[in-house]
Amino acid sequence: MTDIVIIGAGTAGLTAGIYAARAGKSVKVLESTVYGGQIVNTPDIENYPGMAHVSGFEFAQKLYEQATGLGVEVVMTSAASIKDQGDTKVVVTTGNEEIPCKAVILATGAKNRHLGLEGEDKLVGRGISYCATCDGMFFRKKDVAVNGGGNTALGDALYLAGICNKVYLIHRRDQFRGAERDARKLEACDNVEFVLNSNVTRLNDENGKLSSIEVTDKNTKEVRTIPVSALFVAIGQTPDNGAFSDLVELDEKGYIRAGEDCKTSCEGIFAAGDCRTKSLRQLTTAAGDGAVAATEACTYIDRQ
Ligand code: NAP
Repeated sequence: MTDIVIIGAGTAGLTAGIYAARAGKSVKVLESTVYGGQIVNTPDIENYPGMAHVSGFEFAQKLYEQATGLGVEVVMTSAASIKDQGDTKVVVTTGNEEIPCKAVILATGAKNRHLGLEGEDKLVGRGISYCATCDGMFFRKKDVAVNGGGNTALGDALYLAGICNKVYLIHRRDQFRGAERDARKLEACDNVEFVLNSNVTRLNDENGKLSSIEVTDKNTKEVRTIPVSALFVAIGQTPDNGAFSDLVELDEKGYIRAGEDCKTSCEGIFAAGDCRTKSLRQLTTAAGDGAVAATEACTYIDRQ
């Protein structure tokens, strides 16, 4: 039987894997998409201690190599549910495989929030994107827009300003939530225009591709049509913990209720990183959670 199954191979999950493997436990990390989690979409990380600059992709790659080098097994599969059999937990995958283990760490992160506009889903890959580093190069020298005011939106806008002809940064307020330093860098870019106090209210397409967006000023209600080849939606994330809600308590927004010790309402199940209730969701806090959750899980197993 595996000692610890970790669900999610983002920063929290892989860090938990590193700590658990170094503590002598056997570890499986289940990942449904790509290892690294959300950070792979960040062009330049400037706030991880000890690394002045690193791309999210490089960070994720190093984390993966560090974890697997220590013996952590990363399995590409989705967890559909968990059965609680007391000292044994059984993680059931979407392919109906059952993985028995002694403890589970949920590190499911969060998924990109969508605007919910008509045509949004249909235009994904045809002008709508949730990842500037993945898709930005397709729109090289074109006019594009970024929607959002957090660190992701600011980082995306900076990255796109370097490769696109023009970048409209649309945000629903007149102040950014993201780092002041990045906002100042964007102000200094000749090809970046801030469209503040505004929401994207309509997506227009031609021949199945995004051709322009309509943006409504919240105060004046004025509607402006901006011709763009791409809209990068960076309006935050929402948790995705529904599959485990029968076992662990969620808050009203769907985050797993767990304190700084990463213990959930179910003994033997821990939560780490962006998927749990916390005040600051950052790379550093995800890594910190991974370390705590793994240590708590090891202690729990050793007491069995
Ligand atoms: P975020 O910080 O939650 O920001 C989301 C932004 O989208 C906010 O500006 C919000 O506006 C706006 N927004 C939310 N819902 C909206 C809607 N329906 N329509 C229009 N705008 C909407 O999300 P994030 O930028 O993806 O960042 C997530 C976490 O990762 C944060 O903790 C962030 O600091 C962290 N992160 C860190 C780094 C880094 O350290 N290098 C890089 C990327 C992300 P309001 O401001 O009005 O609420």
